[in-house]
Amino acid sequence: PEADQHAEVLVLGGGPGGYTAAFRAADLGKKVVLVERYPVIGGVCLNVGCIPSKALLHMSVILNETRELADHGLKFAEPEIDLDKLRDYKNGVIKKLTGGLAALAKQRKVDVVQGYGRFTSPHTVEVELADGGTKTISFDNAIIAAGSQPIKLPFIPHDDPRVMDSTDALELPEVPKRMLVIGGGIIGLEMAQVYDSLGAKITIVELGDTIIPGADKDLTKPLLKRIKKRYENIYLNAKVTNVEAKPEGLEVTFEGKNVPQKDTFDRILVAVGRAPNGLRIGAEKAGVAVDERGFIAVDERQRTNVPHIYAIGDIVGQPMLAHKAVHEGKVAAEVICGLPSAFTPMGIPSVAYTDPEVAWAGKTEEELKAEGVEYEKGVFPWAASGRSLSLGRDEGMTKALFDAKTHRILGCGIVGPNAGELIAEAMLAIEMGADMQDIGLTIHPHPTLSETFAFAAEMAEGTITDLI
Ligand code: FAD
Repeated sequence: PEADQHAEVLVLGGGPGGYTAAFRAADLGKKVVLVERYPVIGGVCLNVGCIPSKALLHMSVILNETRELADHGLKFAEPEIDLDKLRDYKNGVIKKLTGGLAALAKQRKVDVVQGYGRFTSPHTVEVELADGGTKTISFDNAIIAAGSQPIKLPFIPHDDPRVMDSTDALELPEVPKRMLVIGGGIIGLEMAQVYDSLGAKITIVELGDTIIPGADKDLTKPLLKRIKKRYENIYLNAKVTNVEAKPEGLEVTFEGKNVPQKDTFDRILVAVGRAPNGLRIGAEKAGVAVDERGFIAVDERQRTNVPHIYAIGDIVGQPMLAHKAVHEGKVAAEVICGLPSAFTPMGIPSVAYTDPEVAWAGKTEEELKAEGVEYEKGVFPWAASGRSLSLGRDEGMTKALFDAKTHRILGCGIVGPNAGELIAEAMLAIEMGADMQDIGLTIHPHPTLSETFAFAAEMAEGTITDLI
């Protein structure tokens, strides 16, 4: 049967990966159709992820600072929190960005079809249109960018409104008295921070032996120390085995060392990871291989096992980060247009936008040890940074890791205020193959936190002369 519409490039999903791929393909002259189930493009990142969380975290840092500056000679009254206005502010930020994206799509003549798409053959997708009915779209090439969604746990009553995922928590329904955060990863810790500064008493439960498993322990230590002081409980090496919804609260059963057997909370945030949407798009009808968890395997040109179908973003694997999705999206679009592009980064930076921030790029020390790589390291403590002390903070650290023979940088980790901004320089150094001398000889402005990167390189080199 004839399709209702034809696309040279069909993009399934309008998140950071999908809209980037669609825009790039359109700029390279292709007729592009972007299928997105929600009324706005932007995906998880803009609507219920990166952006709203950062808007709220910014407010959280301000709240914390107003409360902590008394020792520095500035005393503020306890801030009045207007949750409705705070929510409006956050929604306003999202609206500006999604509005901008819609304009960019229009400018490029990317046809955005609103509805839920599923493959019906290797060359067609059927879309259940948001305003009713269905539409069949045929395509020459497709890019799957359907993203991921929060993992649910079978023993948790997810339909109880007091049980939240990150999307619910970003809506700021209320500030609960006592809140349990299940999962001590980046998303759990960021949301815990927001609710803590708004006045909730936070308990975190994490299966691993530390927070943000996968990050360098030297980096997570200062964050752990700070939140231990602020939060009611942090249970490590522990898990939740049952949650019962009772009228007076959510009764939680724990298992592990140093945990109560049961405790009752007003709200729970479940932040135990995200599952890719690969099993929900009819991929089998197109012959695209999807693993049992829903991930789609791709090569370095973002090609699936079906030569004209590509996949990008959260759906192709870890790390599930917007900047990875964006770069993969560009590669997929360019390869379709005949360019020799490939996704072969020297690293992908990760950032926890907590207070202090934790950021890392390239290899971690644990990874180098596990791989048996001979390395040298330079560690610069921010207690010796003039800029950090001027900010009233001394817990930060910059750690740079170098190849023992070539002295080229292999990885970098930073903890402290603004670590997320600072890691970009290290990522550039890694991509450019800079060595410790290149970094140490680069004149950094004084006094800045950015200096700590050069100091770390000089520490490794043994050429540091002053700790300022
Ligand atoms: P998504 O953003 O998931 O977009 C997929 C889109 O496809 C969605 O809009 C969905 O509606 C649509 N879709 C899915 N299936 C279909 C279908 N069958 N038909 C039509 N449409 C469909 N990353 C960072 O880099 N930095 C951060 O600070 C950060 N913070 C985060 C905070 C939170 C609370 C969360 C949840 C995530 C955060 N992330 C962050 C991760 C980031 O949001 C994701 O990595 C990113 O959005 C992935 O982009 P994507 O294009 O692969 O998919």
